[in-house]
Amino acid sequence: MSKDYYNILGISKSASDNEIKKAFRKLAHKYHPDKGGGDEAKFKEINEAYQVLSDKQKRGQYDQFGSAFDQAGGGGAGQGFGGFDFSGFSSGFSGGGPGGIKFEFGGDGGGGFGDMFGDLFGSRNKERGGQEKGDDVAVDLDISLEEAATGIEKEINIYLSSVCSECKGSGVKTGSKITTCKTCRGAGQIKRERRTILGIFAQMEICQDCQGQGEKPEKNCGKCGGDGKVKENKIIKIKIPAGIADNQTIRLSGQGEAGFRPSSGKSIPGDLYITVHLNQHSLFERRGDDIIYKLEINFSQAALGDKIEIPTLSGKVKLKIPSGIQSGKIIKLKNKGLPHLQGRGEGDMFVVIVIKTPDKLSRRQKGIIEKLREEGI
Ligand SMILES: [Zn+2]
Ligand SMILES: [Zn+2]
Repeated sequence: MSKDYYNILGISKSASDNEIKKAFRKLAHKYHPDKGGGDEAKFKEINEAYQVLSDKQKRGQYDQFGSAFDQAGGGGAGQGFGGFDFSGFSSGFSGGGPGGIKFEFGGDGGGGFGDMFGDLFGSRNKERGGQEKGDDVAVDLDISLEEAATGIEKEINIYLSSVCSECKGSGVKTGSKITTCKTCRGAGQIKRERRTILGIFAQMEICQDCQGQGEKPEKNCGKCGGDGKVKENKIIKIKIPAGIADNQTIRLSGQGEAGFRPSSGKSIPGDLYITVHLNQHSLFERRGDDIIYKLEINFSQAALGDKIEIPTLSGKVKLKIPSGIQSGKIIKLKNKGLPHLQGRGEGDMFVVIVIKTPDKLSRRQKGIIEKLREEGI
């Protein structure tokens, strides 16, 4: 249950310094404890988030932590902890490290290292209710080769859990408020003792009543039943970069299913994974960032040369066929392929010459070709 500072301030991961400042001011004003309707806990949380995100160095550290968190959780049980770098977080763990940042892993700051790592690595465990992170969503998207060449913005319509519009994600019925969970007394977890042949083990379990949040609505929102999220159709805009390859996956962080009571700051949304499939093109074959086009020409065009209009990904061009060209010869059109996804420049287009042999001849044509034969051609 690491805190999502971006979520707390209601901003995106790419928010500018100015946006961070604005969001903080607005929320701090709203929740200031001295004010009627203020909320000290919330105010503290907002302040904490701002302290980290407004400091370039701290924010960088926090972002880095976030991605490593992803790596550890996303790898699944099979991959173990390989490649996970603990050293970078020592300042976070010690609480008062060089930057003075303290990342809180345990819900309410309680628990030692054991709990901390339990939370860290078990964060995507669905058995625990998935309360820390909403589900990831995977969708497939078909695009044309031309769309892959230019890049395109697409809208997709998906049915997924989104923030409830009625309670804005709090799960609380209008006029009611959020209260400390009585079952776990706000801890979010319950100690359970298990007897085994080796003795009695105390185990901390997520409180099912509040799903580990330590608090819950006094009265549940009628629309979402207190979850703060509802399933609905959502239109999401996706930018497909130029040069994308077949079966490539784009990850949109935080665009998956909403977490449990999203506005609590104790859950984060899942991610959206879009796998792009390229439709087969009727004219072009793609090889990496190059495209291949087969051009059929007549014997006379091959023998005498010609100028022929051919299609490319960016419209028609005139192609000069040199006289005496052989079947199977390849003409390269530089930079007429797809743009490189990484780095500058484009692939090339390769025109493969195929000389067509006539299979139906008129009497006159036959006569002419017979004359060619007499000439030894
Ligand atoms: Zn609701
Ligand atoms: Zn509880």
